[in-house]
Amino acid sequence: MTALVTGASRGIGRAIALRLALDGIPVAINYLHNQAAAHSAVESILNAGGRACAIQADTGDPAAVARLFDEAHSRLGPVEILINNAGILHRGNIDSYDPAAMSAMFRTNVDGVIHCTRAAAAHMRSVRRGAVVNISSIAAHGTAAPGTTWYAATKASVETLTRRFALELGPHNIRVNAVAPGFILTDMVDPATREATIQTMAAKAVLGRVGSPEDIADAVAFLVSPQSRFITGQILTVDGGRTDFLSH
Ligand code: NAP
Repeated sequence: MTALVTGASRGIGRAIALRLALDGIPVAINYLHNQAAAHSAVESILNAGGRACAIQADTGDPAAVARLFDEAHSRLGPVEILINNAGILHRGNIDSYDPAAMSAMFRTNVDGVIHCTRAAAAHMRSVRRGAVVNISSIAAHGTAAPGTTWYAATKASVETLTRRFALELGPHNIRVNAVAPGFILTDMVDPATREATIQTMAAKAVLGRVGSPEDIADAVAFLVSPQSRFITGQILTVDGGRTDFLSH
């Protein structure tokens, strides 16, 4: 049983790939540009005795996605675990709407989830098993981080797709869930304001700290494991308990 993690060269995706490999799962590490980082993630898995390969593909391009799944299959075996993690953030709000930025975000954050899930479902249906985890964001639930309005709209789409795909694929014994991370320290965090952002975000969490990519990876590992065999169509929030929700 092979896992494919999109956008796994860095950040949350990389941590998920390493975590699934710890469970003995061969992992296809997808990336867009950063070949060196993707190969370094593969090396880490190989050095720990696991199986992995790196595959370049733009998840927003259906032809590239078809090639991605073919290559993962031929190098590691058929993909029965899919983690739709690749995502981008372009800042904007009602006064700064940039249609090109919105299209780019929808292409990766939403179209990418659709292309990859359709590609994975073909094989999963034929063997009547599979698990898909989409990486959403608490932005979709209405957190007020400035400049994330359009990004939040893409992640709201991811959550709706999670439920709809669970509905469509459940009868084929394929589970579809999502993890909605809170603030996680990755390259997505603007380096110019990094330290101030960490302080602000740590203060908003009941647990008093920001999240790590490993915090998300452990939740994903649960959602693809047999321990979650009766869970589908769910959005698991992993955010340290945000006071701006809990105090409502
Ligand atoms: P990140 O550090 O910026 O890494 C993004 C990853 O996605 C990289 O591996 C990148 O590949 C890849 N990627 C981007 N566009 C792609 C495309 N079109 N096709 C294939 N791969 C692509 O991001 P992150 O912070 O780990 O975020 C991962 C996911 O978590 C995203 O969906 C994000 O929206 C979500 N999330 C993050 C946070 C947070 O606080 N960080 C919070 C909530 C949700 P290259 O290295 O080749 O560029």
